Amino acid sequence: MGRVSGKVALVTGASCGIGRATALLLAREGAKVVVADLKADEGRAVVSEITQAGGEALFVPLNVTAEDDWKQAMAAIAAKFGRLDIAVNNAGILYAGSVETTSLADWRRVQSVNLDGVFLGTRYAVEAMKPHGGGSIINLSSIEGLVGDPTLAAYNASKGGVRLFTKSAALHCAKQGYRIRVNSIHPGYIWTPMVQGFTQETPDQAAARQKLIDLHPLGHLGEPDDIAYGIVFLASDESKFMTGSELVIDGGYTA
Ligand code: NAD
Repeated sequence: MGRVSGKVALVTGASCGIGRATALLLAREGAKVVVADLKADEGRAVVSEITQAGGEALFVPLNVTAEDDWKQAMAAIAAKFGRLDIAVNNAGILYAGSVETTSLADWRRVQSVNLDGVFLGTRYAVEAMKPHGGGSIINLSSIEGLVGDPTLAAYNASKGGVRLFTKSAALHCAKQGYRIRVNSIHPGYIWTPMVQGFTQETPDQAAARQKLIDLHPLGHLGEPDDIAYGIVFLASDESKFMTGSELVIDGGYTA
């Protein structure tokens, strides 16, 4: 018996990185998984991996910033599985820029994916979970939602927003008696395509990677599974007394 057996779980940005690892782990722990992403080929490959291992999964094309996409995704989930128990609002983008170098267009692009996407995902998940006795929503913030970084103005703002929006939604759902828990996750640097791309933009990639490693007292970067384990904990009933909480998984970065 898996830790989330029989539950239906949606993971946004599940085609690669943390989202992919989370989708695979949720499936291994018994959930039926909805893989949602802009990238259809990679997303369908994740679905195949799950079904070949004996699990159940569905790919839905989703741009988290587009409300119509959310409506269509929720309709597809209802048609296939009839319910939603777990929603992982994971899709996000990184943009490096200070208060002086970030343009308004880049600022808005980051808030749109990282903040509007989480807002819409939480809102539609609450609507889908309410009639079926509750659920668990996990929003991907970051260490950058806890402490400032002079080079990540827009990203800092978006992830700080995710942190407090999560608490607002958690309190609302608790007060309404919906039995829906909402928590945020705060990873340190994890070696995913997002961070690989970030280091590739610098002339000395090895030095850039080492600079990131040095920020973590444990002496290495995290792996996608390090975060997936935390997400599955928050998705499962093991965390049934947690809502509005911040789960920090950062190798000591913020200690
Ligand atoms: P990634 O870039 O490796 O993967 C992100 C996925 O999201 C991709 O599959 C991409 O196609 C998808 N995506 C991007 N924009 C989308 C959109 N508008 N609609 C739907 N899907 C979209 O990223 P990752 O490193 O796995 O990060 C996942 C989450 O964790 C992000 O929210 C990120 O900010 C957060 N995070 C990552 C790190 C890290 O070090 N990797 C640290 C802290 C927080």
